[in-house]
Amino acid sequence: MTSSILVLGAGMVGTCTALHLQQRGYEVTLVDRRAPGQETSFGNAGLIQSEAVEPYAFPREPGFLLNVALGRGAEVNWHARGLWQMAGSLLRYLHHSHPKRHAQATEAYSRLIAHATEEHDLLMTAAGAQHLVTREGFRFVFRTAKALEEAAQRAEDLRVRFGVRSEVENTVLLAQAEPALRASLAGAVHWLDPWAVNNPGALVQRYAELFVARGGRLLTGDAASLQPQGAGWSVQTHEGRVQSQQAVLALGPWADGLIRTLGYRFPLFIKRGYHQHYRSPAQLRQPVLDAERGYVLAPVQRGLRLTTGAEFAPIDAPPTPVQLAKAEALARDLVDLGESLPEAPWLGARPCTADMLPVMGPAPRHKGLWLNFGHAHQGFTLGPVAGRLLAEMVEGRQGWIDPLPYAPARFM
Ligand SMILES: Cc1cc2nc3c(=O)[nH]c(=O)nc-3n(C[C@H](O)[C@H](O)[C@H](O)COP(=O)(O)OP(=O)(O)OC[C@H]3O[C@@H](n4cnc5c(N)ncnc54)[C@H](O)[C@@H]3O)c2cc1C
Repeated sequence: MTSSILVLGAGMVGTCTALHLQQRGYEVTLVDRRAPGQETSFGNAGLIQSEAVEPYAFPREPGFLLNVALGRGAEVNWHARGLWQMAGSLLRYLHHSHPKRHAQATEAYSRLIAHATEEHDLLMTAAGAQHLVTREGFRFVFRTAKALEEAAQRAEDLRVRFGVRSEVENTVLLAQAEPALRASLAGAVHWLDPWAVNNPGALVQRYAELFVARGGRLLTGDAASLQPQGAGWSVQTHEGRVQSQQAVLALGPWADGLIRTLGYRFPLFIKRGYHQHYRSPAQLRQPVLDAERGYVLAPVQRGLRLTTGAEFAPIDAPPTPVQLAKAEALARDLVDLGESLPEAPWLGARPCTADMLPVMGPAPRHKGLWLNFGHAHQGFTLGPVAGRLLAEMVEGRQGWIDPLPYAPARFM
């Protein structure tokens, strides 16, 4: 008899999980309250970051932290209520960001990142989505020679340790590579192997269409209605209550709310982020991170997308796009942004964990329940890897990547 499984959440992570389970013969129902890929996986910078072998650590430089505390700079914004709510997890994040522990997290993180582009490639080909992606890397650009030099050293270190390929460009080479950059910059690190997706939400939709074309069931429903039923699980959908033998929670930044109702307290938190589109007359060729200022400019189908750094605020707090205004002013130095499109700024939330590793594996106290969330700054990159790893665990197969470092039980 075919085993049935529910996947709750149709962002990049849930949709890829559904595809991989389906590929292994499971009868899969993918449930979301919205259409696939309409939340965090919609509004990100669209980078498939094969260079991001190190998870994003808690910044420790005193000058940076002082700027954050005083509300200066564009990188970070915070709401007092958000900091208060997340204080416990943030303290643990600081603890895990100690260089020794960060190096351990990097070992585990880099093993996932190593497969990101090849796993996306397989799904993109099957989904007919190759036209959404360019494979020319992206740049960290630097305003000062000192920062460029430090970045060049780090890039060399990543090459030696993880085989991450990059080229360092001086002012002249950068100006030739990206004529749209009008500020005189010290130079750039051009990461050669990452990919850029020009419509991240559309990529998730393509993956979801592939899932449906292969016989998968995609339903609208509320994950909060999940209940144990008999030996399995059930959830309420617009087509009635759906039952299955197993269930996967892939709710990205909303995972914490649901797992708390099941009695779990994991050190999770979110980093909110905004985007805005500009009509930029002079388009960039590849995305750039203004590395000393902390925002990304990415050429996408709708124009030039500016995405912001981290905002520590409750997930449901009203938008406060102050970082967007600051980043826009900085970006206008770099490129001719032109007018912004007449639309409200987009707001999303990176689903983060204190130890910087995603939560992937069996729920420790609930039979037949699986967790797949917490992919933080690289969930768009890691969706297909996370989906395959989780599906192999459900299948009871091991060997591709050791799942132990990501096990939910590490927090118990
Ligand atoms: C500004 C910004 C820029 C970023 N840039 C990048 C980047 O360039 N590259 C990269 O790799 N990552 C990037 N990220 C991170 C990345 O976007 C996330 O890690 C990733 O999208 C998380 O995917 P997910 O599937 O876990 O979550 P989501 O995409 O949020 O999916 C969760 C799904 O759960 C559904 N859901 C929630 N609650 C319920 C409920 N009660 N019932 C039913 N459904 C529910 C939601 O509707 C949603 O579809 C960025 C993030 C931000 C904010």
